[in-house]
Amino acid sequence: MATVRRGLLERVASYRPSLRPTSSDDREAERSEDGGGGRESTDQAGNEGERAENGGDETHTRVEDERDKHPGVRDSTESPVPPVVSLEDVTFAYGDADAVRDVTLRIEPGEFLGLIGPNGSGKTTLLHLMLGLLEPDSGTVELFGQPVEAFDERGRIGYVSQQATNRGSTMPVTVREAVTMGRFAHAGFSRLTDRDREIVEEALETVEISGLADRRVNQLSGGQRQRTYIARALASEADLLALDEPTVGVDAESRDAFYRLLDSLNASGITIVLIEHDIGVVTDRAERIACINTELFHHGDTESFVESDALEKAYGATGRVVHHHH
Ligand code: ADP
Ligand code: MG
Repeated sequence: MATVRRGLLERVASYRPSLRPTSSDDREAERSEDGGGGRESTDQAGNEGERAENGGDETHTRVEDERDKHPGVRDSTESPVPPVVSLEDVTFAYGDADAVRDVTLRIEPGEFLGLIGPNGSGKTTLLHLMLGLLEPDSGTVELFGQPVEAFDERGRIGYVSQQATNRGSTMPVTVREAVTMGRFAHAGFSRLTDRDREIVEEALETVEISGLADRRVNQLSGGQRQRTYIARALASEADLLALDEPTVGVDAESRDAFYRLLDSLNASGITIVLIEHDIGVVTDRAERIACINTELFHHGDTESFVESDALEKAYGATGRVVHHHH
């Protein structure tokens, strides 16, 4: 079967028009155009600046497949593509009280999963367990089909942590430097190639921050900083983008643009896990929802979530939640 190494950015670039305001119908159209585009993969980088240290080997490729949004059902002649994330009976406690209990869920390639739950319900903890940043007390976690403890392709994950938009937490580097960090796992510690530099410029352009490339990250607005982190994940050619309340502190207009960007990235094949406190936003954007309050109350498509009582159950009878539809 053919293997492809078509650049992620190349694919994303074709969706760039969606960065401009679109109606939700347009978004649907965009999604349905997402016919194939084999996801190939590369190792890559890009956590918040704390670089992954793998040496950027380009040895693995994935089989091209006509992956649709629900790749679970496959032709028997195809080799199965493992879930991006697989949790089995995962439990974790910081002290005596469980923060996450008995959670079993899978995230398939190309999915856009919204992770919701009240404050303190274990969302960030669950994301950290998924990414191998915390080790479960019991249960198992796999990333891209490998046990998380053995997973050594950190670069396939772009992670934007909860506090990423805070000015104080950012390094005094320029936007271009921050995005270039996304290439280090490819380049190793040898010199960046012209191609690496080109990919950085393309990533800046994709999220429309080329004009800010020489500005320092700590001088940006929350929305601009968010785009910088996304550009770094793009430059790293991550397969999975994990975002923990990425728009806190970001103004409404930038926030809308940011979610359009996420849609276009997802349409290009990137798997997304998004923690978002605004349930209206997440049910508009995500095709699947995981709703937790220590335990998983719902995991499935957004429509069945909206129709279920999982929200009320997870948030409790007194919980006041934003739940609107546009
Ligand atoms: P969420 O992201 O949904 O707000 P968290 O995963 O941050 O929830 O927290 C889940 C629970 O674990 C909360 O009760 C929180 O107080 C507790 N918790 C989170 N981080 C720590 C920590 N580092 N040490 C002890 N308790 C923690
Ligand atoms: Mg949190």
